[in-house]
Amino acid sequence: MKFEIEKRLPNGLGRAGKIITEHGEIKTPAFMVVGTHGEVKFVSNDDMKALNAQAMLSNGYHLRNRSPEIAEAGGLAEWSGWNGPTLTDSGGFQVMSLGSGLGKVVSMEREKGVVNTAHKDRLAKVSEKGVDFVDPFTGEPDFIGPEESMQIQCRIGADIHMAFDELTSLADDYDYNIEALERTERWAERSLAEHKKHCDDLGYHQNLYGVLQGGRWEDLRRRTANNLGKMEFDGYGLGGAFLKEDLGEILRWCNEELPEEKPRHLLGLSHPDDIFIGAEMGADTFDCVAPTREARHGKIYTRDGNINLRKFRDSNEPLDFGCDCATCGAGWTRGQLRALWRSGDLEKKRQFYNLASIHNVRFIVRLTEEIRKAMLEDRFYEFKDKFLSRYMVK
Ligand SMILES: [Zn+2]
Repeated sequence: MKFEIEKRLPNGLGRAGKIITEHGEIKTPAFMVVGTHGEVKFVSNDDMKALNAQAMLSNGYHLRNRSPEIAEAGGLAEWSGWNGPTLTDSGGFQVMSLGSGLGKVVSMEREKGVVNTAHKDRLAKVSEKGVDFVDPFTGEPDFIGPEESMQIQCRIGADIHMAFDELTSLADDYDYNIEALERTERWAERSLAEHKKHCDDLGYHQNLYGVLQGGRWEDLRRRTANNLGKMEFDGYGLGGAFLKEDLGEILRWCNEELPEEKPRHLLGLSHPDDIFIGAEMGADTFDCVAPTREARHGKIYTRDGNINLRKFRDSNEPLDFGCDCATCGAGWTRGQLRALWRSGDLEKKRQFYNLASIHNVRFIVRLTEEIRKAMLEDRFYEFKDKFLSRYMVK
């Protein structure tokens, strides 16, 4: 994998560039579309190409049982039929949040270093070795640590993997964050060592990103960026639960310390104002389930802010004026989409999920394309003000 910086913002952090993987090029800033199980819900690979998606992000935890079959097929790009650049998440977040409702902003109960999730029957326990958890589908005890996560990801064979890390929540105090961070750094070393053994198993090179935690504390963020920055990672994942108002500062602390020549992925955020902050502060790629998930709930992205289709019965308005997605190009109106959504016919509902998802994903993909273009043309701040002043007005 190669990363080339084409242009920097005056703040020295934000940049436009190119990540060149063995399955193709990603022009950054870029949004990676989430296909947790190796396919984007209700969006086909052809739809993905048509909306100019550049990369797909899948999940190591959710694909773990199918990983031998994926390896057999030659890796995720081939197995999924997507045939472009791919990234996998380590699965750490999924196993640690099982049954707990742990989100990017939800708290957990914690005693003596053991994570007690809200439901006692779905306990996930973090130890030095890794995470013991109960499989929510089989009810059987299971375990994933750094080594298991690397073995799984190397069988899935995405172009970019994430090191196994412990995500802390906003409710965790400073002391717990130090403990978790130090464990994450030890897991980073173990992830690197195990990854090295398997990263060429499928006949092409698979890359590994280290993941930065450290909560909202500047000393922890800078320290871990320094420590992980010295390790032989191919890039970095910017992780953690963020308060919106802290996001820019936290990213600045991390990215001022990280080696400039390696790409950075901001994990799990896709709201337009977060993408602007991320791009400005030096994040190169983004991912989030929100565009497709929200589409299925009738939430449609527009340049004048998001709308809920519930309120647009019989509306002849387009989803968003001037949108270049295939749904808008075919002339679908808000009222027509609402009718499909509210129909009792399963086929019509599926058609709605497809049409609405295409629109929302294209909206975010196009936003990152426009940010990149604005950076290359030295008008990023102008574009940001113009876009957000319209988008954020309700
Ligand atoms: Zn559209």
